[in-house]
Amino acid sequence: MMHVAENKVSSIGRATRAGGVATVLALSLAAIAHAGCSKSGAAPAENDCTASQALTNGVLTGASMPLKSLALTFDDGPGARTIELSQYLKSQGIRAGFFVWGQAVKNDGSGSSVLEQLIADGHLIANHTETHRSLTQHQPAVLTDAEIVDELRQVDTAISPFVKDGKFLFRPPYGHFDAKTFDVLEKTDMKKYVGPILWDVGGTMAPPNRAADTECWKPGTLQTVTGCGDLYLKEIDNVGKGIVLMHDPYFIEQGNPESGGTYQMVQYIVPKLKEKGYTFMRVDEVPAIAKLLPGGAGATGDAGVDEATTDPGQTGESSSGTDGTNPCP
Ligand SMILES: [Zn+2]
Repeated sequence: MMHVAENKVSSIGRATRAGGVATVLALSLAAIAHAGCSKSGAAPAENDCTASQALTNGVLTGASMPLKSLALTFDDGPGARTIELSQYLKSQGIRAGFFVWGQAVKNDGSGSSVLEQLIADGHLIANHTETHRSLTQHQPAVLTDAEIVDELRQVDTAISPFVKDGKFLFRPPYGHFDAKTFDVLEKTDMKKYVGPILWDVGGTMAPPNRAADTECWKPGTLQTVTGCGDLYLKEIDNVGKGIVLMHDPYFIEQGNPESGGTYQMVQYIVPKLKEKGYTFMRVDEVPAIAKLLPGGAGATGDAGVDEATTDPGQTGESSSGTDGTNPCP
């Protein structure tokens, strides 16, 4: 298990340093805009942009959120301290989103109980694929269409019992998503997933004020818990709101959950964020995302991906992909 996790941390770091996500997304959006997105129509069709509950044609971030509101999200778990993190967040009145990947769920002998605890504590469990391979640029060979679908479907099988009210959310590994990925998934039942859900804070680490826990806990860019937390606080203050990307299973010493890591950092930053007046919502409550979920306003015709006008340009590989392309205004 740890071997897998270490390899994955490493690959995340490589992808982050490569910095290609924004470019990929930006290049992809124009093409995606023409893929299965009908603007016509009073009557929403199944694949129409106005239909509620469907994979979206663009990038979802926290641009639609009110200032000073945050949605904490945790990727790549569950991990060694996930249950404790879940309970800490609950004690703080915070409901978070956990984007789990299938191998972690399976490798963790207590995987099911972790998921049960997350739900019991009011959090949302979402799909971060089965093997955490890039859906668009896996090497040495890109994934086949069937493999892309399988990446979502396997995790879907594992998490569906824990997904309430049809709130199926999806975040692709590394934020990699393009027109082909959309086309492949949109033809299957996996189109039920609302996504790709990216982030506004936490995409890449660049002192003095950009943060990424995946880099904080790596040799070469290693930070202390408070050092990494301060970067998150600064980036949050700069951006002012949004979806915050973190990774609950990773620690300064991989395999040593006592060594400090994201779990400990969250306990450092949450009280400070509250002092600063930030409030918290769950990622499915982000207005532009809520509209696309069952019970949302999507069927009324005003569903859509986030406008990019508030993209702070601060978040590296993340929301910088929202270049203003909104295929479904
Ligand atoms: Zn990930």
